[in-house]
Amino acid sequence: MEGCVVAAHGRQYVVELPDGGLLPCFPRGKRSDVACGDRVDIQRTSDDQGVIEAIQPRTSLLYRSNVVRQKLIAANVDQIVIVVATEPGFSDELVTRALLAAESEEIEPLIVLNKCDLSERVPAARAQLAVFAALGYRIVELSARDHAEDLRPELFGYTSVLVGQSGMGKSTLVNALVPDAGAATREISAALDSGKHTTTHATLYHLDAESELIDSPGLQEFGLGHLDRQEIEHAFREFRPYLGQCRFRDCHHDREPDCALTAAVAAGRIDPRRFTVYHRIIGTQRVD
Ligand code: GDP
Ligand code: ZN
Repeated sequence: MEGCVVAAHGRQYVVELPDGGLLPCFPRGKRSDVACGDRVDIQRTSDDQGVIEAIQPRTSLLYRSNVVRQKLIAANVDQIVIVVATEPGFSDELVTRALLAAESEEIEPLIVLNKCDLSERVPAARAQLAVFAALGYRIVELSARDHAEDLRPELFGYTSVLVGQSGMGKSTLVNALVPDAGAATREISAALDSGKHTTTHATLYHLDAESELIDSPGLQEFGLGHLDRQEIEHAFREFRPYLGQCRFRDCHHDREPDCALTAAVAAGRIDPRRFTVYHRIIGTQRVD
């Protein structure tokens, strides 16, 4: 039987069956490499329990950032919605990291600037996002409190994952866009833990027949530790024209002579803040 993983909680998963029913499932074996959004083959082992036999090929896979080890967060996502707000302040670097995750998996990124009803704060937030707008990233301005619907057309036809620092309005958005989010969450919790309230690591909601939204409470940052230096370089979309142009093939774009990236920064073609973030990410990257 085929199904879709709609919730993940530790080694336990809730699989939605073709008839819409929910079945709690465990993966076969010790390794728990199943993610919310995965299409899986399952076998029912009892009325209220199943085993995940196989994971169908994925179109994309996203990791949660974790210093100790990489954890899967969502599979088969085709849009990352990065929620920031006019207040409180947000981190450019977290936005950059989410964009890098999107670029590396060839997922459509979308930046949402929330709380635009606080109009006096909008210009400063826009200025902070200008670097991303200049790179061609789409930015939608809205107010989740009373105009969350403005986001719905942007989600149509996609499996989107929401990411944002706490306080940006992610829950407000989910609750407005998924009116039965509470009921769906309770149903999933019940399936997971016989009625006990459980917070899941990730939940997939159906928005309509063609659109899905994956919310992961506490997801602030995607993991990039599985990417090597070349993959990180490519994920900075404005670096691409200069890659392979340095004098040294293994250039770290640091103090090497004739570095095409350093030259592009000096010429104003690459924003120095992005270059700094690149070096910071590479510095924390596992060397392979
Ligand atoms: P989360 O931590 O990202 O899930 O953020 P919440 O959805 O809990 O929102 C954080 C706070 O921002 C709450 O007090 C919300 O009421 C408030 N908030 C959310 N959206 C808006 C908005 O569009 N405008 C204003 N003014 N406040 C908002
Ligand atoms: Zn270089």
